[in-house]
Order: sequence, then structure tokens, then C-alpha cells
Amino acid sequence: MPRQSLYWLTQDLRIHDNHALQAAQASSSLLCIYIVDPRWFKAQRWQQASMGGHRWLFVQECLSDLTQKLQTLGQRLHIYYGKPEEIIPKLCHTYSLNHLLCAHMAGSDEKTTLTAIEDSLSTVNVERIDQYTLFESTHLPIPLGEWPASYTPFRKVAETVATKKIVDIPTSLPPMPKVFALPSIQRPNWVPAPAPSQCAFWGGETKALEHLNAYFSSELPHNYKNVRNALDGWDNSSKFSPWLNQGCLSVRHLQNTLEQYEHENSSNESTQWLYVELLWREYFQWSHHNIGTKLFRFKGVAKKAPLTSFYAERYHKWCDGQTPYPLVNACMKELKVTGYLSNRGRQIVASCLVNELSVDWRYGAAWFEHQLVDYDVAVNWGNWQYIAGVGADPRGGRHFNLEKQTSLYDPDGVYQKKWGGQVVGQLDSVDAADWPIMPTDQH
Ligand code: FAD
Repeated sequence: MPRQSLYWLTQDLRIHDNHALQAAQASSSLLCIYIVDPRWFKAQRWQQASMGGHRWLFVQECLSDLTQKLQTLGQRLHIYYGKPEEIIPKLCHTYSLNHLLCAHMAGSDEKTTLTAIEDSLSTVNVERIDQYTLFESTHLPIPLGEWPASYTPFRKVAETVATKKIVDIPTSLPPMPKVFALPSIQRPNWVPAPAPSQCAFWGGETKALEHLNAYFSSELPHNYKNVRNALDGWDNSSKFSPWLNQGCLSVRHLQNTLEQYEHENSSNESTQWLYVELLWREYFQWSHHNIGTKLFRFKGVAKKAPLTSFYAERYHKWCDGQTPYPLVNACMKELKVTGYLSNRGRQIVASCLVNELSVDWRYGAAWFEHQLVDYDVAVNWGNWQYIAGVGADPRGGRHFNLEKQTSLYDPDGVYQKKWGGQVVGQLDSVDAADWPIMPTDQH
């Protein structure tokens, strides 16, 4: 029976180094779809909807870029609105599709959805393709059954292991099924309209490859380690994360480009450190594959309860940048306005929420999930666990001294001034017995 394929694109929005497109070439027909899921926009367990405005705008830019790219290969991207577990079985039945291709993703919600689809499609072969990561599930440096509880043992082995080879862009693709009727292009009203954003990133493979080219045509990779802890500035880190996490940029293509750069310009501590960071991304992906929903547990993988709870007022002040800590306020405002925050800034505000404000880390992780243009489930929740002291950290959590961080990274207050961090609020307006707390100068 000829293979009639459905390619469900998720966080692999590109045509370069796309193993699913390569696999699809063996099909007699091919349907490429992307599904916008209503659950992305509904408030979930920790009060936030997963998809916030910055990422949603970025995703739409990615989709419009990919639409054009697929056209150059004689194909089309069809966008559906609804639940994948309802849409995909319907499409398979209607168009007699017998092969489903999709990226192998770590997210546990995504896995549940895919299992539901698989269970309802007994005649369809489901092929999960490792193209979000450097390694493949069948050739991991350390098998998942022996997965280390901390990063360093993984890194030591991973640095010596070859990653999967990249593939060329196909010159053409199979046609769409003959009887295919185009989906309605009308957006349901639950889909938010794109809102203006001060996000510095523009979505899509075209911009991703332009940025890759600009970064590796400069001296920046040679200086990465010296500047990566700075709080501000386009050049203080590589800025690949939003494109990597929507799959506009293949992480293996990035790794190859880095190796090429080292070959042509020499390798140094900075270029090596960039790879170390990509391996952190990798470690969190496979850890999430390994631990599943434990990633979202209060006690984390360490099974250790932090001394925190949920204080609504403190949490909201943290989100809005109205805490008594100017540096934290500045970071939180930058995050809200732009959808991005430096790694140093993320560490500082996460530590503050857990240690100074004593708030349950999962609310912070959910706020990041909503705000970040580069949100990735495994990396975000994994880093939060780490800082809260319930994750993959042999040191058992990180408490950043805010005064010290300020004197190290913003000694002249330039960053705090830029983002209005100096507007300092009182932490609690009522005490434990619900009595109003007067500001100190009114006593
Ligand atoms: P660079 O410093 O240039 O690093 C290059 C790449 O390495 C990044 O693009 C990223 O893919 C990877 N990387 C860098 N730092 C880390 C790290 N600490 N953990 C894992 N991978 C890393 N990163 C995300 O991509 N998505 C998230 O949702 C996310 N949430 C975070 C939440 C917290 C609390 C913290 C402390 C960090 C989080 N990070 C997240 C990691 C890191 O802050 C970002 O990857 C980085 O700031 C992105 O900017 P960049 O691409 O310029 O990074």
C-alpha cells in the first residue's frame, strides 16, 4: 500500500535539517499541518495560560515564514484550530492517511496527546523523529534508564559523543492528497489577535538563519564566556533560544556552524562554553523524557519540600516588578515588556521569588512560561527546579544575594533605571492575621 503521510509540525518550523521532510519524500502524498490548540490560551494549574502575547506573535511569524518556504518545495502548510487528538484522526480517516510524522518532543502534555492520537488510529503508523535535540533517543550518550541526576556526568560523556548528522533540504516534496479540501482560513474567536510587542525577536527560519550568519561572522563567539553574565545587551549572549525552541533553527545546524567557526577561527574557552550551554539544553530535554510529570511536582526530583507557599499579593508584586528589590523589579519589567530576560536576570528573579518572597516556585515557572518568547518546557521547569533546590543540582538550590548581584552586575544602576526598577513597593499590605500593615513612615 502506498505511504500517504501526514506531517504534524510542532516545534520544528523549518525546512533545513528537517528529517521529517526527508522521511516524507518516500510517500505518494503528503499533508503538512500545524494545529493551534485552544488549551494554550486558557489559564492552567498555576493561574497562567501557557501562551502569552510575545510567543504567540513569534509563532505566527514563524508560520508565515514556513508557509512561504514550503511553497518553494511545491507544498503548503495548513493551519487548523482545535485539539490535535480530534483533528488528526479525522484527517487520517477523511484522506486515508496511513503514516503520521512528527517531532519527538519531551513535553508530557504533548506525549499524552500523541498517545491519545495513536490509540485512536490503529491503522496509522506513527513515526516520532528526534529533530529538536542534538542526540537521538536510540543513540544517547547515556541510556535513559541510567540517566544521571545531575548535569556534570552527562556533559562529560556527551562531549565525546557524535551527534546526529544533518540532512539537506529536499528539492521537492510529494503532492497533497488528490481529494484534499482546504481548511477554513477563518480564525475562531478564541484565538488572540496579534498584539504589538517590544520583543526584539522576529520569528521564522529566514530570520534565524540570518542571525546565525551574523553571529558567526563576528567576533562574538570568541568572547561569549566573558559577557554571558551581563544583564543587558543584544551581544551579551548568542540570542538563539527563541529560534531554537520553535525549531526555526536546528540545534545540530547550530552545532555544525560553531564547529566550522572553531575550525576557521580557532576554538577557545568561549566557543567551548557555548557548546556546554547547548548541552544544558540537551540535558534538560532528556531529563524531562526520563522523569515525565515529576518535572512539575512541588518537591521536584529531589523529593524535598521547599519552605514556601502561595502568597497572592507577593506573587503579583513580583510579576509586576513592584517588590522592595529594585534589581528584581527591573528584570521583571524587562521580561513583561519584551518577553526576554538574560540568564543572569532569570536566576536572580527566580531566587528572589523562592528565597526572599517564600513563594511556591511553580507559580514563577508558570509566569515565565506565559511571558517568555523562548519558552521551552524542559529547560524552563528544569531551571526553576534547580534554583528552588528540588532539581538536578548537587548543591541543593541557589540563593543569590541581591545586594551582591547588584554591585556586580549593575553597580551604577543603569539597568535598574532603564526599566524603572527603582519604584519600590512594600512587600505585604496585611499581616498574618489580615491586619493592614502601615508603611514604616506612617507608624
Ligand atoms: P546563550 O547564553 O547564548 O546560550 C546558548 C543556548 O544554550 C541558549 O539559546 C539555550 O538553548 C542554551 N542555554 C543557555 N543557558 C541555558 C540554561 N541555563 N539551561 C538550558 N539551556 C541553556 N532557556 C530557554 O531556552 N527556555 C526557557 O524557557 C528558559 N527558562 C529559564 C528559566 C530560568 C529560571 C532560568 C534560570 C533559565 C532559563 N532558561 C531558559 C535558560 C537561559 O536563561 C536561556 O536559554 C538564555 O538566557 C537564552 O538566551 P541565549 O540564547 O542568548 O543564551
